[in-house]
Order: sequence, then C-alpha cells, then structure tokens
Amino acid sequence: MARDCIMEPTMPTPKRNPRPRISCVVPAYNEARNLGPLLMGLTERLSALTDQWEVIIVDDGSRDATPLALLPWLIRPGVRYVRLSRNFGKEAALTAGIDRADGEVVILMDADLQHPASLIPQMLAAWQEGADMVCTARASRADEGLAKRWGTALFYGIVNRDPAVQIPVDAGDFRLMDRQVVDALKSLPERNRFMKGLYAWVGFDTTVIPYTPLPRHSGASSYSLRKLAKLAFTGITAFTNAPLRWWSAMGVAVAGCAVAYGTWIVIDHLLFGVDVPGWATVVAGMMFLSGVQLLSIGILGEYIGRIFDEVKQRPVYLVARESGRSAFASPSPIAHEHAQAHSATTHPESVY
Ligand code: UDP
Ligand code: MG
Repeated sequence: MARDCIMEPTMPTPKRNPRPRISCVVPAYNEARNLGPLLMGLTERLSALTDQWEVIIVDDGSRDATPLALLPWLIRPGVRYVRLSRNFGKEAALTAGIDRADGEVVILMDADLQHPASLIPQMLAAWQEGADMVCTARASRADEGLAKRWGTALFYGIVNRDPAVQIPVDAGDFRLMDRQVVDALKSLPERNRFMKGLYAWVGFDTTVIPYTPLPRHSGASSYSLRKLAKLAFTGITAFTNAPLRWWSAMGVAVAGCAVAYGTWIVIDHLLFGVDVPGWATVVAGMMFLSGVQLLSIGILGEYIGRIFDEVKQRPVYLVARESGRSAFASPSPIAHEHAQAHSATTHPESVY
C-alpha cells in the first residue's frame, strides 16, 4: 500500500529556462556574400530571445573572401570564428561547431539563409515545452528533380530498416538541441559522421516542425548528385548492414537457380537425349554471375573502406585558427572537457 504511494505514473517535465544561453553553429564554405545578411538577421533575433548567445561560424576551408566578410563581425561579443585547415565537409564542420558550443541549447543552421531564423522562437518554444531535440523537416520536395526525390525515398527506405533508430524523413540539419543531446553527440567517437543518423541514434524526445526552405541567398549549393550519393553511402554503411544481407540472399537465390537449372539439364539429357544447349546460355550465365560478384565485392569494399577510415583514428577535422570569444559568463565545464573531442589544432595560438 505504501509502495503504491511512492510510484509515479509519469516523470515531470523539467522546468526550462525561459531565456537560455543559446549557441548557434553555422558551417560555411564559400559563403562570403551570405554571412553578412545572415548575421544581421540572426544576431538581432537571438538578442530578442536571450541575453546570452553566441554564433559560431565554422569556415570549412573556404576559398573565397569568407574570412574577410567576417572580420567586422568579430569585434561583436558572441560572434566566434573557427577556420578549419581545409575543406573537410559539412558534417566535420558541424562537429567542430558542436564541440565548441557552450550554450544550454545549440541551434544548427546553414549559412546561405535557406534556414529561416524566424523559426527559432517556435523551436525554442518546443524546447521549453519539454522537447530535447527540435528538428525541422521540409514540408515538400516538389521543387526537387525526380532523380533526387527517388534517390531520397530509396535512401530513407534502406537506412530506416532498424525500427529502433528512425531518421525522420526529410529532416535536415536545421535543428535545436538540448545540452544533454549535444553532450551525447560529442561522446560518439566515429570518424564517418553522418550527422542526420547520429541525431537519430542518440534518441531523446524529438519534435518535428515542418517548414519550407527559402531559396539560397547567393551562390550555388555545394552538393552535386555525386556528393549526395557519397553521403548516402556513408549513411547506409554507418546505420545498416542490410546491403550485406541482401547480397548473401542474392547469392543463395542465384546458387539455387544454378542447381535447379543444372538438374534440369541432366534430366533433359538422360530422359530425352537432348545435348547440352549452346554457348549463349553459358556466356549469359557467366556474365550475370560476374556482375553479381563484382557488385557484392563493391558493397563489401564500401564497408571495409569505412572500417579502414575508423581504425586510422585520424581527427574528424583540423583547426587552423580561432577567434572571437564566447559571450557566456561561465561556460559549462562539460562543454570544455569535450571541446577537443574530434579535433586537433594545428596552430592553437594563432588568432585572426
Ligand atoms: N558547407 C560546408 N562544407 C562543405 C559544403 C557545404 O560547411 O563542404 C556548408 C555550406 O556553406 C552551407 C551548408 O553547409 O552553410 C549547406 O550547404 P549547401 O547550401 O551547399 O547545401 P544544400 O543546402 O544544397 O543542401
Ligand atoms: Mg543550401
């Protein structure tokens, strides 16, 4: 009876800070023309939402005037700049920013103004109501070509085979995360970082907000179909072994067919005295089997290549220089403990 009194049917939702410390991580590759307009709107928006904010621009080895475009902003408290030693890719740039973000909530957004900052109050409200992760998902893909839409559908079909780890369809990197989620992400040591998968893997209570991405403010997307396909392979190899199993099943099916066909040829010959049929069947069979074998070696190779990347244990990114300082009075000790989790700094002292 006494025990009944102790049991609680539900956990109370943690009371969340109405004006939390916010970190905004922005990966930027050749975004010189976009950073000014982005920071103008974003800093204004953040100032309205909280007294303590920081924007971490991670320059992913840009070859344009991105560092120059940022120079006037670096005198402003809260704007931080991290330059990677070369172009490591968006996933690595996001990791570099997340490793440095000190806020109670961390927002990830692109530098090209496709992610509307006007959505941040709604995302923050969802966090205040108890969501640990608030991600945004494209309301429609009507603006994309058929190849990209089919490719995306196929990708999610393959990668979401594990019911325990479901990557929300169409959810991108524009998201808000609680400190707990950020620390969980930072504890994942893998080098092949397919971020959308990692967000789903860590779990936590997630809310999805549908939105329509704006057109790119200036410049062009860095993601060609080839680059997207490469990213998709990283995602698939990191999150499912299904392709390996499919090729095992294919091997069994082909072997079964070969045995059945061989048996039929023997019976045909013994019962009806029909000679072994001509070369065409043999050649077609051989070509088919060689194709299947090469494909399966290719798929195995993809997995082995990822294992090779992991065992080398190279850092996910290298930092060339950093400048600007967090505007937070007392950054969380955990954040600093993990700041170097995935990186090495080539010149730690050099500041812009
Ligand atoms: N980006 C990056 N490194 C790269 C490619 C892209 O940091 O190697 C950044 C880019 O500056 C932008 C974001 O990632 O802020 C999304 O890139 P993009 O707009 O090219 O992709 P899309 O919106 O077409 O998916
Ligand atoms: Mg974009």
